[in-house]
Amino acid sequence: MTASADPGSTAFATRQIQAGYLPGTPQNSAVPPIYQTAAFQFASLADAADLFALRKAGNLYSRNASPTQQVLEDRVTALEGGVSAVAVASGQAAVAVTLLALAGRGGHIVAADQLYGGTVDLLQETFDDFGIPVTFVNQDDADAWRAAIRPDTRVLFAESVANPIAQVLDIRLVADIAHEAGVPLVIDNTVGTPYLVRPGEHGADFVVHSATKFLSGHGTSLGGVVVDQGTFDFGAEPQRWPQFTAPYARFGELVLWERFGIGFAFGALVKSKYVHDLGPSLSPFNAWQILQGIETLDLRVARQSATALTIAEHLAQHPKVAAVHHPGLTGNPWNALAQRYLPRGVPSVFSFDLAGDIDGDEDPAAHARAARVIDNLTVVRLIANIGDARSMVAHPASMTHSHLSPAQRAAAGISLNTIRFSAGLEDPADLVADLNQALALL
Ligand code: PLP
Repeated sequence: MTASADPGSTAFATRQIQAGYLPGTPQNSAVPPIYQTAAFQFASLADAADLFALRKAGNLYSRNASPTQQVLEDRVTALEGGVSAVAVASGQAAVAVTLLALAGRGGHIVAADQLYGGTVDLLQETFDDFGIPVTFVNQDDADAWRAAIRPDTRVLFAESVANPIAQVLDIRLVADIAHEAGVPLVIDNTVGTPYLVRPGEHGADFVVHSATKFLSGHGTSLGGVVVDQGTFDFGAEPQRWPQFTAPYARFGELVLWERFGIGFAFGALVKSKYVHDLGPSLSPFNAWQILQGIETLDLRVARQSATALTIAEHLAQHPKVAAVHHPGLTGNPWNALAQRYLPRGVPSVFSFDLAGDIDGDEDPAAHARAARVIDNLTVVRLIANIGDARSMVAHPASMTHSHLSPAQRAAAGISLNTIRFSAGLEDPADLVADLNQALALL
């Protein structure tokens, strides 16, 4: 975890290929090598002791960091315009370690109602077990964010573009509310991608990713990243943030804030405590796979966005479709925010609702309708993933968001008629034809 090796003056497309890596080993490999090793040999016992006590930075053991992971961290840092990053085993782990580090001992979290279902599971069950209270609010309601903040609140959390309904967050508004309360805003930018929106430019202090999705783009590997934008000053109110500002017995009473400072202390805590203790480390091979994907991020995302918009426009006039939740469509409630925050295009993950009445929370007829369409798709695949080269659908109510109560699903905008679509890189005409033939069976 160091500042990016990127000179900082290059454009996005250059950074996604070059940031974080300069050949320089005796082998001079053009592509970052996979350092597939569990551990690293120390130069001496004194060297080992310095590394263990955080007196010195360097490679120690791959649970904490590895050189391949470092390239990935620096590259995503450069793409998000941040200062440092920590890469971990999955997006879920990135969200977990980020919020654990900020919440500290029992700090309160305010989170959006409109979140990926796995994040809701984490926040409302596991964090509850840990004694970390979470209040969920409608992300479009500024007063609800303000009203939910308590003296023990330590972080506000939302997705830039929510999965699966694609509500676009007013990032600046929520960032200002967080900062008025003296707490950071964490944004999950998995669906947004740094190509389409960089939350740090709109006030977010930490940006998390499931690198499994668009950053990889190939669907082969799990990974997660959190980027510190270097904007949140834990030293401004040191008593609120003892995890950064108080002497840390584990490291000989070292004060992380003094040793690492703004933009780096957060990552030091995440790696040396949460990843070290809980162990959600990224394998060097997965780090390398994600790096291969990032090299084509802008090309993929631009094409996927265009394809998704074509399909959304087609579905919007289809008689078997009741609603299309795509913020690129005029009339979508988040269209104005999409124009403001997503000038390069709207993400390619959106949802649509099949036509047909729903009778009760578990209406078998509504389930059967969704199954009839989904099970008859042939080009589009039924897969619980987003953002890879394949076009995929999911039924959030019985898959990703099945653990939510009917009321929580309704708050997130999901019904039994809702189908999530993630546009891949296939020919859009094949995707439209496939959807048409499946919808014709209704
Ligand atoms: N955040 C969002 C928005 C997601 O869609 C997902 C997974 O679908 C995650 C986080 C979790 O990421 P992972 O599956 O890599 O653990």
